[in-house]
Amino acid sequence: MNIHEHQAKEILKEFGAPVSNGIVVFSADEIKEKVSQLRGKEFVLKAQIHAGGRGKAGGVKLIKDVKELESQAKKMFGKTLVTHQTGPEGKKVERLYIEEASTIEKEFYLSCLIDRESSKIAFISSKEGGMDIEKVAKENPDKIITNKIDFTKEGPNEREIDNIISIFEFDKEQKSIAFKLIKSLYKILLEKDASLIEINPLIVTKEQKIICLDAKMNFDDNAIFRQPEILKLRDLNEEEPAEIEASKYDLAYIKLNGSIGCMVNGAGLAMATMDIIKLYGKEPANFLDVGGGATKEKVAAAFKLILSDKSVKGILINIFGGIMRCDVLAQGVVEAANEINLSVPLVVRLAGTNFKEGKEILDKSNLKILSAADLNDAAKKIVEAIK
Ligand code: GDP
Ligand code: MG
Repeated sequence: MNIHEHQAKEILKEFGAPVSNGIVVFSADEIKEKVSQLRGKEFVLKAQIHAGGRGKAGGVKLIKDVKELESQAKKMFGKTLVTHQTGPEGKKVERLYIEEASTIEKEFYLSCLIDRESSKIAFISSKEGGMDIEKVAKENPDKIITNKIDFTKEGPNEREIDNIISIFEFDKEQKSIAFKLIKSLYKILLEKDASLIEINPLIVTKEQKIICLDAKMNFDDNAIFRQPEILKLRDLNEEEPAEIEASKYDLAYIKLNGSIGCMVNGAGLAMATMDIIKLYGKEPANFLDVGGGATKEKVAAAFKLILSDKSVKGILINIFGGIMRCDVLAQGVVEAANEINLSVPLVVRLAGTNFKEGKEILDKSNLKILSAADLNDAAKKIVEAIK
């Protein structure tokens, strides 16, 4: 789960990390009253969307006075920002963050994340922070250094922290701030079940102060059940509506860009199904694992979910009945198809527990179903059918 920059900064602050003062507003009318909480002459107006690259897309603006703040805010609200991280459809701006502006002398990059491959915590640092870190990673990867540390309760020791921050060439005072910052990031990762914390840029101001000027945090969905405070920060506006619907039924659903909707039980089988669709020259419209012991209600919800996707031109159901029974699957599909008009070709491949009963239910229904002997046949048939 992702959260907004202003929420991430609130957490940073709570853990003692240096951030600027700021206010969050949901409409331009709130600015006049709230802005009195801020000091300084200049402000930064920042669109709050779950994506980076806002600076280059006009979502971060340096502003001289309150009047301009209000007029720029009015322009930014409701605008759809397209950045290199949003995809072409962009993200609508529904909240803004206003910060006391900083004068920047240096922009660094610092992040902390779980490195699954090594089962360690990786700290990534670079002197070339700011808006072009992707370019640095591509063209000058040696300017980005990674330090992996063991996952312990205590976190990084002095020598490890030194390794993480040495490229920044901080003076003594800055070093002690940076030491605390590294400890804080680690503590957030540990205590809040974050999987990624990215500070880009981490700046040194003209006054030689260190500030986290941008913050991105991602949390482990599998641990959210024990992080009620984090779950409260969830912003449904930022999530794919179909994925929200899927989470209500506990379906593992991820929308993709292709034209063949898939309903499968088991993540491995779902991946194999996606692979074979690609093998026959088409792209899957989604990943969908209905899980082991799915009920017919769950199957019906999954089927409706697939059909609600306008880019779906055909559906492939691939079920290997183990704990999941083929007759339950068939009931769910028939029920859902009776409620909504099935307007695209449907190929069903069933095998395993209660296969016969399942096939009977499908045969008796008036649905136009192409049945398939095996997965290979199923993929071939659905690709043919949508041509
Ligand atoms: P992102 O583009 O979505 O990553 O948004 P950031 O929060 O990183 O802001 C983009 C850029 O705006 C930063 O790299 C800075 O160069 C600039 N910026 C952000 N806040 C300030 C500020 O307080 N003062 C100045 N001078 N520039 C800022
Ligand atoms: Mg940034």
